[in-house]
Amino acid sequence: MLKPIIIANWKLNGNKVLVNKFIKKINNDYEKYFKKSTVIISPPMIYIEYMKKFMKNLKLSFAAQNVDYNYQGAFTGEISTYMIQEIGAKYIILGHSERRKHHFENNSLIAKKFYCTKINNLIPILCIGETENEKKSGLTENILTKQIDKIFLICGKNAFHNTLIAYEPIWAIGTGNNASPILINRTLKFIKNYIIFKSENTDIKFYMQYGGSVSTENIKDIICQKNVDGVLIGSGSLNYKNFLEMIKISSKN
Ligand code: PEP
Repeated sequence: MLKPIIIANWKLNGNKVLVNKFIKKINNDYEKYFKKSTVIISPPMIYIEYMKKFMKNLKLSFAAQNVDYNYQGAFTGEISTYMIQEIGAKYIILGHSERRKHHFENNSLIAKKFYCTKINNLIPILCIGETENEKKSGLTENILTKQIDKIFLICGKNAFHNTLIAYEPIWAIGTGNNASPILINRTLKFIKNYIIFKSENTDIKFYMQYGGSVSTENIKDIICQKNVDGVLIGSGSLNYKNFLEMIKISSKN
């Protein structure tokens, strides 16, 4: 059976003190608890190389939280896929609702980033999801398909092969109001079927995550849903004790 995939998105949080604490604790706990899950940590980009260096014997992966689709040149402040590869990250989180909202990233820009992530052999973790109003208006599936369609348009039929897709309803992120396990399962099933249909390939391999106020209280009921391969945890992943507890719970399934 597939190991649960646990992604920790630190967002714009943390410092060297927190990083060192995680390194020390993970080095200690890895053998006993982490091996039963696929753990991907996404700290702010500048800490990835440092964390990797001091956790070098562990099979833990890292994700960048953003990338530019340009490879080099006069793009002040940006970071390319080559640089992300060089520091040893394997994944890139794309389309997070916070980047859509605060950095005005639209579906076309996200699709360009997705394309360049894939052709450079990094793995996209694509976040998609609807707002509360869209949900209330019954537009969830419409919004999700629009977010997915742009990726197909720019990246082609095989776009989603070997990628991760995180259903992250915006109303659930950072609110303490997670989507119910039944809704998560139903929505992930919809996304999965839609991607298989558009790919015209029933053998296509991709992995489905849920994100939005995942906690030690709700992870057990979420992770056991048929269509859930793993979870994306935001603020709850910053507290090591919490994070470890969630890893322990999910690996017991
Ligand atoms: C996220 O950052 O994608 C997220 C799901 O955050 P939180 O777990 O804090 O809701």
